[in-house]
Amino acid sequence: MLKTLFLTAIAAFVSTSTYAVESSTTPTKTSSSVSFAIIKTAKLPVAEGLVFSGGSLLKKVDSNFSAFLVRHGDSTFLFDAGLGNKVAEQYQQDMPLWQRLFFKYDDPVSSARSQLNRAGIAPVKTIILSHSHWDHASGISDFPDATVLAPEAEMAIIRHPTTGVGGSWPSQVAAKTIKWKTLEFKPVAYENFDRSVDLFGDGSIVLVPLFGHTVGSVGMFVTVDSGKRYFFVGDAVWNAQALKKGSPKFWAARLLVDDDGAHTQQSIEQIRTLMAKRPEIVVVPAHDGTVQQALGYFPAWVK
Ligand SMILES: [Zn+2]
Repeated sequence: MLKTLFLTAIAAFVSTSTYAVESSTTPTKTSSSVSFAIIKTAKLPVAEGLVFSGGSLLKKVDSNFSAFLVRHGDSTFLFDAGLGNKVAEQYQQDMPLWQRLFFKYDDPVSSARSQLNRAGIAPVKTIILSHSHWDHASGISDFPDATVLAPEAEMAIIRHPTTGVGGSWPSQVAAKTIKWKTLEFKPVAYENFDRSVDLFGDGSIVLVPLFGHTVGSVGMFVTVDSGKRYFFVGDAVWNAQALKKGSPKFWAARLLVDDDGAHTQQSIEQIRTLMAKRPEIVVVPAHDGTVQQALGYFPAWVK
């Protein structure tokens, strides 16, 4: 039964895209219309110094909990699911009491599903995870028909969920009904990444491995209609300011949330190298409220 579900999920996904067609290192012109929208599901103001090492403890920055809605022609998918309708019970079940002091979110939560419903947009059928931490996977349960993609390394931790901020939560990923699909990177270089997946085969949306924060973290390049390029870096950094000096997260947070500190730092350096070579690319960390505010929020689209 599970195998059947899995195969059906793969068929459904493949039929709506040319997933894993070879890409080139140079973005090619896209024929389909490509845009994205940032769905802010919640936020939390935090001292910048708790977000990255060397940040100010006096300055507060908004930490967003966002899902990214990406449109390619007639296909729409989510990159991360943000906080979902069931986040309160998930948090109650899987966030240890002592961690609740440091890792929380402000109400109200406005889930991706509820915002799509309000806008009259059909529920997405595909979710790609930057990684499977609680604040990115919470909304999966709001899309019961969706196929959820993550690399095999991430699938390995999803199959053995654990609680706490550094875990993939049982309350979010253990349901037998979730249609998982393994995302396989091809040995095709894209920018300064040696592996990639060109999702639609036209160079407009390209996924790259960004391991470190979790063993199977994923970054996503999107080239929108205007030709402008964006790089969604998940939780490699929490704030784009951290990329200026290559700062890691605040040390205590780093110990709790980064699976592999050295590899996370390598990913940060890789992003910095790219930014030096391609300053026109806008880097969008999953939680950076300042970068996201400047781009605007759903129902506004970045085209
Ligand atoms: Zn994370």
